Amino acid sequence: MTQQENLPALELSRRIRSGDLSVVESTRRSLAEVAQRNPTLNAFVEVWSDAALTRAAELDHKRVSGESTGPLFGVPIGLKSNLCVTGQLCTCASKMLSNYRPTYSATVCQRLLDADAILLGRTNMDEYAMGSGTEYSIYGPTRNPHFASGPNAVLEGYSPGGSSGGSAAAVASGMVPLALGSDTGGSIRQPAAFCGVYGLKPTYGRVSRFGLVAYASSLDQIGPIATTPEDLELLFQVIQGSDRLDATSLSREKVQQVEATLGHKSLKQLRVGIIREHAEQDLAPTVRRALEETKEYLKSVGATLVEVSLPKQAQAIATYYLIASCEAASNLSRYDGMHFGHRAQVPEKNATLEQVIAASRGEGFGAEVKRRIMLGTYALSHGYAEQYYQQATRMRQAIRQDFAAAFAEVDVLLGPTTPAPAFPIGAHRQDPIAMYLTDQFTVSANLAGLPAISVPIELTNFQPDESRLPVAVQFHAPPCGESRLFAVANALHERNQSAKLGAEA
Ligand code: GLN
Repeated sequence: MTQQENLPALELSRRIRSGDLSVVESTRRSLAEVAQRNPTLNAFVEVWSDAALTRAAELDHKRVSGESTGPLFGVPIGLKSNLCVTGQLCTCASKMLSNYRPTYSATVCQRLLDADAILLGRTNMDEYAMGSGTEYSIYGPTRNPHFASGPNAVLEGYSPGGSSGGSAAAVASGMVPLALGSDTGGSIRQPAAFCGVYGLKPTYGRVSRFGLVAYASSLDQIGPIATTPEDLELLFQVIQGSDRLDATSLSREKVQQVEATLGHKSLKQLRVGIIREHAEQDLAPTVRRALEETKEYLKSVGATLVEVSLPKQAQAIATYYLIASCEAASNLSRYDGMHFGHRAQVPEKNATLEQVIAASRGEGFGAEVKRRIMLGTYALSHGYAEQYYQQATRMRQAIRQDFAAAFAEVDVLLGPTTPAPAFPIGAHRQDPIAMYLTDQFTVSANLAGLPAISVPIELTNFQPDESRLPVAVQFHAPPCGESRLFAVANALHERNQSAKLGAEA
C-alpha cells in the first residue's frame, strides 16, 4: 500500500464492512507499511503481528457470519508503551519495566477491543512519559516522518516531539490510521503538532486512567491521535466514558449535565478568544503565520474574535514542572526492585535492603526520570513543601480561575500548540530547560483539567527560506467542551484541504 492509499479509520472501516477489503488484508497492509517505514522512523517498538492477524481472521469470520460490528471494526491501532494490555510487555521505554507484562488491560484497551479494533503493537515514548522529544527511551529516538528536505534539513532528522512521539509518527507516516497517547503536559498535542496530525487531550476524568502507568496522576489523561478530526472524535467516543476502576472518572450524568449547559453553537455563533499573553511570546515565523491564517479563516466563516487575558500564563510552566515532578516522585517510589521493577544484582553478600533498592533505582531509571524524582522529592521534603509544592498548588488554582474568567466571555480559546516547529533530534540534549519550554503553551490545559486540541495548519504559501515542517494551532474549551473542539477542527480541516489543493494547483 502506498502512502496515498492510506485511508482514515472511518473510510477503512466502511470499506471493510462493505466487503471491499478483508480485515486480514488490511492488517497485512498495515504490517507491511510498518516493515517498510519503521526501520527508519522507530515509531513502533513492538509489533504484535501474530496476535493481530489471528484477531483479524476472527473479525472477518464475525462479519461473514453476520454478527454486528463495532465502531472501529478492523481498524489497526498503535498504543503508547505505557498502556497495559494483558500479557504484552508494558515497558514505559524504561529499563525499570523492561520485563513487565501486566495481567490486566487498561480500560481504554479493553474498549478498543470491544469496538472491534486491532491492537497492532506498542509505540515509542519518553521514559515514563517524561520528555518532549521521544529521545529519552531505552529504544533510542523516534524520527519525525517529515524529514523536511530543503534549506532546513538536518542529518539525523527531526524529533517527532514527545512523549507520545511514537504514536504521532506512526499515524503521520501512515503505518496506522489511529493511535493512543497520554498527555500530562502536552505529550499528545506537541507531537501531533510536530508531525502534522490531530491530537486531543480530553477533559480530566472523561477517559479512564485505569491501566495507564502513572506519571502525574492529577494531570495524566489518555487521548487520541489521528489524521482527520472525524477519526479523532471516533476514537475519543470509543475510549471515553465513566469507569468504576478509576476514582477520578466523571459519571455519565455529570458529563451530560455539563454538556447541556454548554449547549450547541454554530461556527457563526462562536466567540473565539485570542490569548493576549501568547501574542507577546517569541514564536517562530511559520507558527505566527499559522495563527494569523487561522484567525482570518475563522473570521471569514463568521466567528467573532475576542482578545482575552490569561494573566498567570507566564507561571504555568514552572507550576507544571513542580507539581508534575512531585507527583512523579511519589508515583515512582513503588519501583524499588522489591515491590516492582528491575532488581540490581548487588555483589556484596550481606547487602542491605537499602543498598539493593538504591542500586536497582540507579540502574533502572534514566537521567531525566532521576532529575524529576530528585526535584519532586526535594520540593516535597520537610520545610520546603510549603515554599514549593503548596505555592505551586495555589498558582494552579489561580490558573484555573483565569480560564474560568476567560470562558465567561468566549466559547473556545485559540493559541499556538508549540512556540516553534519540530527541532532537530538531540538539539536540547545539553539543556533540559530548553526542552521544558517547548511545552509552555500546552501545560495549562492539564493544570486546569481542560480539553485541548492540536490542529495542523496548512500554510497557503511558503517563503523560499522557510521551514517546511508542520505547524499547528491549539484550541482550549471549557470542561466537557470536546464537541466544540471537534467542530472547529472539522472546519479547519476543510480549509486545510483547499489550501493543499491551492498549493498543488
Ligand atoms: N514534556 C512534558 C514533561 O516532560 C509533558 C509530558 C507529558 O505530557 N507526558 O513532563
